[in-house]
Formats: sequence, C-alpha cells, structure tokens
Amino acid sequence: MNQAKVLQSTPGYSVATVGNLATFEGKAFIKELVGSTSMEVSFGSLAPGQAVPFFHKHKQNEELYIVLSGEGVFILDGTEVNVTSGSTVRIAPSVSRCTRCVGNVPLVYICIQAKEGSLEQYTMTDGIIEQ
Ligand code: ZN
Repeated sequence: MNQAKVLQSTPGYSVATVGNLATFEGKAFIKELVGSTSMEVSFGSLAPGQAVPFFHKHKQNEELYIVLSGEGVFILDGTEVNVTSGSTVRIAPSVSRCTRCVGNVPLVYICIQAKEGSLEQYTMTDGIIEQ
C-alpha cells in the first residue's frame, strides 16, 4: 500500500516516508512532499509479471533507477537489460523505456529524475566540511 506522507517539514529540511518497503505497492512521488527544487524522486514497485503499462521518454530530464529488490528487465530503445538488487540504470531523456518485473517477488526501485547536464558541483566540489 502506498502510504507516502510528510513526517516533518521546516524551512531547512523535510522528512517524508513511503512506509515499509517490504509491503510498498504502486508508485509514490516525493518532490511535492519534501519540496525538492532540483529533482523528482519516486519509489516504484511492480508485482511479479507486472510491467509499467506504457513506454516513455523525457523532454529534458535524465533518470537514474536504483533497484532495491527483486529482478527486472528494462527495455531501452528496444534492448532488454536485466537488473537486480543493487543495479543502477542511467537513462538519457531521448531513450524510450519500460520496466518489467521478471522475478517471483516484487521489483522495488527508486527513480531519480533531474535535468540532464544541470549538475555543476557535487561531492567534494560542492560539500563544505565543517569539522
Ligand atoms: Zn520517466
């Protein structure tokens, strides 16, 4: 069941949950819940044999899928790519994509969506060590 909700919100940070991932079903988008300004993040779960019911591309956002559990196939411009727990798949905006669960347990994943080419600083070039 999708139980996405905000737990705490301040001007500086927000905390939300989608509930227990062991029983999570469907899709939950996080951007609006936490007030993110630079990325959309969603949790997704597909039951055994289930696929996202459409192929899609994006106009300007790349996506990074992080597989948390289960086994699946990504169909990327017609090519099938197998994924399992720990897999990460980066997909350029113009690539047609669809995802299917091929194991006997749900395929659970996170999808991070951000504007391709927009990241200017990261990790040590953006982090400020305070101690
Ligand atoms: Zn997408």
